[in-house]
Amino acid sequence: MRKIDLTNFRLATSGTARQINRRIALSFIRRQAPLSRADLARSSGLQPSTVSAIIDELIEEGWVTEGPGQATRGRRPRLLHLNAERAGIIAVDLRPEMTTVALAGVDARFIEQASWRTPDDPRAFIEALSRTVRTLRKAHPQVLCEGMGVSLPGRVDRDGRLVFAPNLRWGTVNLRTMIEAAIELPVAVENAANACALAELWFGHHPEHVRNLIAVTISEGLGVGLLMNGQLVRGGDARAGEFGHVTVDENGPPCPCGKRGCWERFASNSAALGRYREATANGGPPGESRLSFDQLMRFARDGDRHAQAALDRMAEYLGIGLAGLVTGLSPEVVVVVGEVTAAWDRVGPIVNEMIKRRALPSASTRIVAAERALQPRLRGAATLVVQQHFGAPNVA
Ligand SMILES: [Zn+2]
Repeated sequence: MRKIDLTNFRLATSGTARQINRRIALSFIRRQAPLSRADLARSSGLQPSTVSAIIDELIEEGWVTEGPGQATRGRRPRLLHLNAERAGIIAVDLRPEMTTVALAGVDARFIEQASWRTPDDPRAFIEALSRTVRTLRKAHPQVLCEGMGVSLPGRVDRDGRLVFAPNLRWGTVNLRTMIEAAIELPVAVENAANACALAELWFGHHPEHVRNLIAVTISEGLGVGLLMNGQLVRGGDARAGEFGHVTVDENGPPCPCGKRGCWERFASNSAALGRYREATANGGPPGESRLSFDQLMRFARDGDRHAQAALDRMAEYLGIGLAGLVTGLSPEVVVVVGEVTAAWDRVGPIVNEMIKRRALPSASTRIVAAERALQPRLRGAATLVVQQHFGAPNVA
C-alpha cells in the first residue's frame, strides 16, 4: 500500500475504473494475442459486455484489430491482435560518443535508424536530432508519431533537467523542454539504466510476476537502474542508482565525478582499457592508445593474456559491486547491458563466482546478459513511450 502524497496526487474520476480496465485489456492483448473476446473475458475476469465495449473503442482508435483466426472445427473464431504500428515512437539513445535515433512501433521493433557522432554542445545536438527526426518521418509518412523517448548517460529530474551527467559535460540544461520545442512531440527523457530496466520489464523474457529488477549499463561509465515493486527508484534528488560512483578505493584512478576510485573506474570499459594500456605500455601492440573496447575483447579472444587479464579484472569488480546490490536489494533479475555482454562466456562465470562468494548463500537473483543485437538502450528509449500507453494510470 502507498501513502498518499498530498503534494502530488491525481483524483480518481468517474472514468478511472474504465481507464484501468482498458489498460488491463490492452495489456492482455499485448501479452497473449491472438485471442478472442471470450478468451480475454476469461483471462481478465472482466464482464463480456465490458470487454466488448472496451474492444470496440480500442478497434475504433486503431490500437487493436480483429479478424478471423484458424478454425479448429466448425466456425472460425474472430481473434484480437495488437496493432503494433498504431503508435510510432522516436527512440533516441544518446551516448557521449554516439547518438542513435530510430523510428519504432509499440512492439519496440525498429523500422529505421540512423547514428551520428554526439556534438559537444546540446544546441548542436538538438539541431542534428531535429534533422534526423524530419528525415525519418518523411521516409515513413504512414506512421503516426506519438512521442519520443530519450535514454541518456545521466540523471534527470522530474522536469527533464540534467542533474548529473559527468560523462556528457553539458551542465544542467533542460533537455526535455529543448527537444519538445524543436520537434513538437511529447518527449520523455530518462537515465539509460532506468530505461533499460523498464525495457526488461516490458519486453524481457521474464515471468509476469517479476517486479524487482536491476539494470546495470556498462560503457564509458557504469549506471544502475532500480525497479523495485514495479516502480523506478528515483531518490529524493533524482540521482538514485549512482552506485557507479561509490568509492571502492580512495587512492584509485580519478573519476569524471571529481572523486577517485569509484566503482565505475574499476568495472567499466574505460577501466579495462586503462588497465590494458598500463600492462602493455612497453612492448604492446602498436596503436593501442586508441584501442576500442571491442578490439580489447577481440584480443582477449585471440589469446592476448594482457587483454584477458584486463577483462577478468573488470569482471571481478563487476561481481564485487553486484554482490552488494544482490544482497541489499534482493532483485529477481539483474540485467547487464553493454559491449561486455559480447564476451559473457568469459566474463559471466567470473561475475557469478564473485557474487556466490560475497552475497548471502540464499541469494537467488538471476544475472542476465542483455542481447546486444536488441539494442537495449534504444529499446529502453522506446519503452518510455510504450509504458505511457499500456501502463497503469497513476492515481493517488
Ligand atoms: Zn565517480
